Amino acid sequence: MLKNVLLGLSRTPAVKHAVVAFPLTRRLVERFVAGENLDDCLRVTHALVERGLLVTIDFLGEDTTTAAQADRVTDTYVELLNRLSAEGLTGEVEVSIKLSALGALLAGGHELALDNARVICAAADRVGTTVTVDAEDHTTTDATLRTVAKLREQYPWVGTVLQSMLYRTTTDCLQQRDPGNRVRLCKGAYAEPSEVAHQAKSAVDRNYRRCATVLLEGDGRPLFATHDDAMIGHVLDEVSRLDRAVDSFELQMLLGIRSDEQVRLAGLGHSMRVYVPFGTDWYAYFMRRLAERPANVVFLLRALFER
Ligand code: FAD
Repeated sequence: MLKNVLLGLSRTPAVKHAVVAFPLTRRLVERFVAGENLDDCLRVTHALVERGLLVTIDFLGEDTTTAAQADRVTDTYVELLNRLSAEGLTGEVEVSIKLSALGALLAGGHELALDNARVICAAADRVGTTVTVDAEDHTTTDATLRTVAKLREQYPWVGTVLQSMLYRTTTDCLQQRDPGNRVRLCKGAYAEPSEVAHQAKSAVDRNYRRCATVLLEGDGRPLFATHDDAMIGHVLDEVSRLDRAVDSFELQMLLGIRSDEQVRLAGLGHSMRVYVPFGTDWYAYFMRRLAERPANVVFLLRALFER
C-alpha cells in the first residue's frame, strides 16, 4: 500500500519539488546516491574498488523530454567512460544505462535511444568495459529486449535486466541464457498491475528462485541483484549443486544498502558489484528506494518532526 503510494509519487512533479527542496531529504539521499557530479561519483567508486568491490555506474536521469537532453546524457556517459579509463578503473567498473534517459520515451525515441546506446557501447568497447541496460516498467520490456538484441549484434557483452515480479520473466530467462549472455536478475522496482506482475512478495520471491535456477542451468553469466539473504542463499546453493565456477556469476547490490554484507561476500571470493548512481536527477531513483523499505520513510519523517 505505502509502497504503491510512494511509487505513484515518484512520478508526481509537484511532490518532486517539495521532496527535493526539503533539506533533510538530502541526508538520506546521500546514503543512496554518490553525489551530483562525476568527481563525487569517482571518489565513491575508488573507495568501493579499494574495498574489493566491483561497480556499475548509473548517471541518473529518466525524465528526458528532448533529444538535446538525451544527447547530454550520452555525452556524460562517454566522459565517464573516458575518466574510468584515465583512472585505471575499467577492469572493475562498468556502466548501467536507462533507455528512457537516452530518449526512448520521445516520439520516434526507440531509434534515438538505440543510436545513443550505440555511442555509449562504442566508448565502453574502446576503453575495455561493459554496459548493462536497466529494466524499467513493464510497458518498456519488449522494446528494451529488442534494443539489447540489436546492440549485442555488435557488442555481445551488453547486459540486460529481468524482473522476477513479471509473469513473463521465466520465459525471458530461458531465452537469455546463451553462452556469454550477461543477465541481471532483480525483483523489480516499479508498481505493476496484476495483469502482468505478481503482487505478493512471496510470489515475487518464488519466481526469483525459479528464474535464478533457470539462469544458472544455462550458459550465460547471471548477475544476481538482490539484498535478500534468502535469494542469495538459494543462488549459492544452486551454484554448488550445479558445480558452477565461482567466477561465472556475480552478486550485485545497491550503494548504501547492506554495505558490510557487500564487503563480507566479496571477502568470501564472490564477484560483488555495487550499483552506484550519481547526478542531480535523483528524485525517482530515491523514491523507489523509499518504497522498498518503509523504515526509510520512518527515518525521513522522524527527522522532520525532530526539527
Ligand atoms: P527485498 O525483499 O525488497 O529486500 C530484502 C532486504 O534487503 C530487506 O529486508 C532489507 O534488509 C534490504 N533492502 C532492500 N531494499 C532496501 C532499501 N531500499 N533500503 C534499505 N534496505 C533495503 N529494479 C528494476 O526494476 N530495474 C533494474 O534495472 C534494477 N537494477 C538493479 C540493480 C541492482 C544492482 C540492484 C541491487 C537492484 C536493482 N533493481 C532494479 C531494484 C530491485 O528490483 C529491487 O527493487 C531492490 O533490489 C530490492 O529488492 P531485494 O531483492 O533487495 O529484496
